[in-house]
Amino acid sequence: TFIVIEGIDGTGKSTQVRMLAEALRADGHEVVQSFEPTNGQYGKVLRESASTGRLSIDDELDLFLKDRAEHLDQLILPALAEGKIVILDRYYFSTMAYQGARGLDPTMIREKNEAFAPQPDLLLILDLDVESAHQRIGLRGDTTNDFEKAENLRRCRDIFLSLKPEPFARVVPSTGSIEEIHSQLLELARSQLKS
Ligand code: C5P
Repeated sequence: TFIVIEGIDGTGKSTQVRMLAEALRADGHEVVQSFEPTNGQYGKVLRESASTGRLSIDDELDLFLKDRAEHLDQLILPALAEGKIVILDRYYFSTMAYQGARGLDPTMIREKNEAFAPQPDLLLILDLDVESAHQRIGLRGDTTNDFEKAENLRRCRDIFLSLKPEPFARVVPSTGSIEEIHSQLLELARSQLKS
């Protein structure tokens, strides 16, 4: 079973991925947890590009696709083939959102990904208004840079929310406590595992 957790920065994805993985292990499942961009050869370049100045949008998309292909090959597909649960912190929906926010067409990004990357069984989208997300990641909104980041997050959020009608997607408000959000995600994951 393939579960993906998505959402803009500040929605608490990594904490929730960890808690969900632990809870499903306690239920007796074998769980592999991972994240994108990975720490592999392409993912590293993507992570470094944040600090060394940005790559061109086309190079960036190309690296995300290569990183994902490697991730699927080396970790995701083998684990699924062994019957394990795979839980990811970000997948190609983040590429649709972030590179879409940079100006590429989200539908084009999706098609390029779905040419080789399987859809998850369950996509959990943590949703938070941009102002709250902003506070959680420590931006004050009083500089041009903060303002641009807020605009960017707004575009990302809209792209994530546009996935709501997908049969495999569930939007979970990320406004409650960590424990409350965890319970909702666990319930959704458990009912997916029963189906
Ligand atoms: O998942 P994590 O919070 O580590 O992501 C780090 C940053 O990478 C995010 O703040 C986001 O701006 C960026 N990112 C991106 N394009 C993606 C995925 C993440 O620009 N497809």
